[in-house]
Amino acid sequence: MHDPQAETIVAPATATGEAALAVVRIAGAAAFTITSKFFRGADLAHAESHRAYHGWIVDPNGARIDEVLVLTLRAPAGYTGEDSTEIFCHGSPQVVEDVLATAIAAGARLAEPGEFTRRAFLNGKLDLCQAEAVADLIAAQSRAGRSAAVAQLQGTLSQRLRHARNALLDVLSDVEASIDFVEEGLEFFDREGTAAAAATAAAEVGALLSTAGDGALIRSGVHVSLAGAPNVGKSSVFNRLIESPRALVTEHPGTTRDVLRENIRLDGVALMVEDTAGLRESSDLVERLGIERSRESHAKADIVVHVLDASRTPTAMEIESIGRLIADQAVVVLNKVDLLPAVEAQELLASPTATQALVASRFSTGELPACVAASAVTGAGFDGLRRALIRQTRLRALTLQNDSVVVINVRHCESLLRAQDALCRFDHDLVAGEPPEILAAELRRAVIALGEVSGENVTEEVLSRVFARFCIGK
Ligand code: GDP
Repeated sequence: MHDPQAETIVAPATATGEAALAVVRIAGAAAFTITSKFFRGADLAHAESHRAYHGWIVDPNGARIDEVLVLTLRAPAGYTGEDSTEIFCHGSPQVVEDVLATAIAAGARLAEPGEFTRRAFLNGKLDLCQAEAVADLIAAQSRAGRSAAVAQLQGTLSQRLRHARNALLDVLSDVEASIDFVEEGLEFFDREGTAAAAATAAAEVGALLSTAGDGALIRSGVHVSLAGAPNVGKSSVFNRLIESPRALVTEHPGTTRDVLRENIRLDGVALMVEDTAGLRESSDLVERLGIERSRESHAKADIVVHVLDASRTPTAMEIESIGRLIADQAVVVLNKVDLLPAVEAQELLASPTATQALVASRFSTGELPACVAASAVTGAGFDGLRRALIRQTRLRALTLQNDSVVVINVRHCESLLRAQDALCRFDHDLVAGEPPEILAAELRRAVIALGEVSGENVTEEVLSRVFARFCIGK
């Protein structure tokens, strides 16, 4: 039977484009023989592992393609656990293309997306959540995302799960052993001790699941939603924050009708910023739908940035919506300060306290979130706004320690929820005095669900889904 694993694969490991260097990776049983066919400089057939060899890549006619260094890794070293070579060539897209074509002519096959990591998993170099951590690490948009992926790559999540799973397997074998002796009235497990062991495992699963909220925050970034009446300058503030003229700015109220979304990074934290339709009474159906979406976006947001027009007095609707803000989940932007007398604008821009006092007097309220004065036209005050946003994100405690385990992956969450559900039923059935057969079935469900995370119990379909997230060469 054809075994794709037996083939030797090749792919660029670095992004395309001009760069100082590019790396082409070859992995599989024939990696050394294949590389020897087009490398001139050393006899790779007898090459040691973990050595770099200098030489030239030549095409099938012997013409030189590029001067390179070849790193040799012998099984079980190397990323995939197989013999592999890594060719460090010059970072030109043409060189990379020619090296690839030469390697393919010499007998290698172009790798599928994620195939290197999939082989690393199949060869036991990584478990499934470590393999997923590789994809998460490459995609990390923030320092917290990187820390969480590194912790997962080091196997911290797998270790904690293995511990819980092994404890449940011990219990399961005692319960299963009792199934055949029900009629004799024999039980090889004590119900109290078993309940305690399952409770410990359930507590561990619960602790991991409690980090899933932070995980979602890391995955999609801190959700920031812009709010305010039409024409106060929300789209202008949005464009300044994302540093690109993405949203349409007009003097006609009610132009933004759909939610616009952009990701930015502030001080190593990923933010997902949304511009929304302005809040006002409207008879236009499309605008009303837009306003509905705005309200949903504000309700789901981690931080609401409420924009006000400094040059006019607030409307009744603005007074109501400012009153509804939650202090540590919002920032008020007093925009258009360039329309105020210069001295007043300067004072507001220099002093958040003065801005806060002005907003408080206009809204006759004492309790307000952080207030910053700004002008989306001149850009004044935006450093202050960014600082206020960073302070608010800090409150969400997203600066993770390097070893803290956070469940960032949706697949892991689903499996953990299934394990929690099975353990909860198990506990209930145990107390209800159900026979070992029923107890064993619930325990088995929990063991399987935990095994899915690290890949001990996993279907081909799940594997395909996991590795489809990877790019070619990873
Ligand atoms: P939105 O409806 O709240 O999204 O507001 P826009 O961003 O579309 O802006 C509405 C109008 O106000 C446009 O004519 C903008 O040029 C203007 N505008 C926005 N920000 C400022 C500002 O800081 N100063 C001044 N003078 N005009 C602004």
